[in-house]
Amino acid sequence: MKPAVFDYYNPESLKESLVLLDKYGFDAKILSGGQSLVPMMNMRLARPEILIDINNIEELNYIRLKEDEMIIGGLTRHCQIENSEEVKNACPLLTEGIKLIGHSQIRSRGTIGGSIVHADPTAELPVILTTLNGTVTLASNEGERTLSTDEFFLTYLTTTIEPNEILVSVQIPLPKPRSGQAIEEFTLRSGDFAIVLASAAVTLDASGQVEEARLVLGGVDGIPVVLDEVTDQLIGKTADDDLIKDAANIIEDLIDPEPDIHATAEYRKDLSKTLSRRVLERAIRRASKV
Ligand SMILES: Cc1cc2nc3c(=O)[nH]c(=O)nc-3n(C[C@H](O)[C@H](O)[C@H](O)COP(=O)(O)OP(=O)(O)OC[C@H]3O[C@@H](n4cnc5c(N)ncnc54)[C@H](O)[C@@H]3O)c2cc1C
Repeated sequence: MKPAVFDYYNPESLKESLVLLDKYGFDAKILSGGQSLVPMMNMRLARPEILIDINNIEELNYIRLKEDEMIIGGLTRHCQIENSEEVKNACPLLTEGIKLIGHSQIRSRGTIGGSIVHADPTAELPVILTTLNGTVTLASNEGERTLSTDEFFLTYLTTTIEPNEILVSVQIPLPKPRSGQAIEEFTLRSGDFAIVLASAAVTLDASGQVEEARLVLGGVDGIPVVLDEVTDQLIGKTADDDLIKDAANIIEDLIDPEPDIHATAEYRKDLSKTLSRRVLERAIRRASKV
């Protein structure tokens, strides 16, 4: 399949690309890694009249470690994050999760900005960003705004980004001491999009009891689903495997996944319970070793 005809722009700076976006608005699409947009164009599921290729805008490609957060430019490729020692030390969930994205060829082109804006409900990065209380910064000719994942993800493949905005960076708060994180997913074949994925981040207090915990599922709704009802049961307690199992068991009453050709709703609920239990157990074990 070939895409419909389009005009192509290759700006060298963020400023130049924002001017183009302002001019063409709804008719234009940003081309980043192209790993989601190009297949959609080839299948004619997307027919932008204008493509604005941001691959030459080096000012959007960086990983910066600050005192209390990590900032990653929108054009930073999955493989750069995967191979960064800085990321591995400061934010191991990102390293663990990004390895689950497709195959190395896809990770060598795909970008963090593209994955977050594409907002596939089974994609790893939106789930990880939500687990870590990350934020996204969007730029337009009118200035910048920074949004939480709650404010950004709307539903399947839909976010609150405006047609004249570019995702310029993602901010991730650094974990506190005695924190552990884990992610796990179920796929039909290695490298496929997940049927269900679960990700957890836990902080223990000095006595080993759970101080903070966050559990997020992908693949059970249009956006990442935060399960505070589950993690609330762990707060202030020494979370042994039985307590975690009981907490995870209530998940079937909290989610309402849709069936599709890959899995029934019941199967997704079962996976959600099992994967949630495993990531919580692993995150707590890791937190207790820090
Ligand atoms: C075979 C295959 C398997 C895959 N498996 C997985 C998987 O297991 N997990 C997973 O998460 N992903 C998977 N992907 C998708 C991959 O991770 C993509 O890289 C990602 O979804 C999109 O990133 P991109 O940089 O390629 O964006 P593009 O395809 O270039 O763009 C995607 C969308 O985001 C918009 N956009 C891109 N960058 C910006 C920006 N900075 N600001 C504003 N809008 C922007 C584009 O206009 C477009 O609408 C797979 C892809 C393929 C082809």
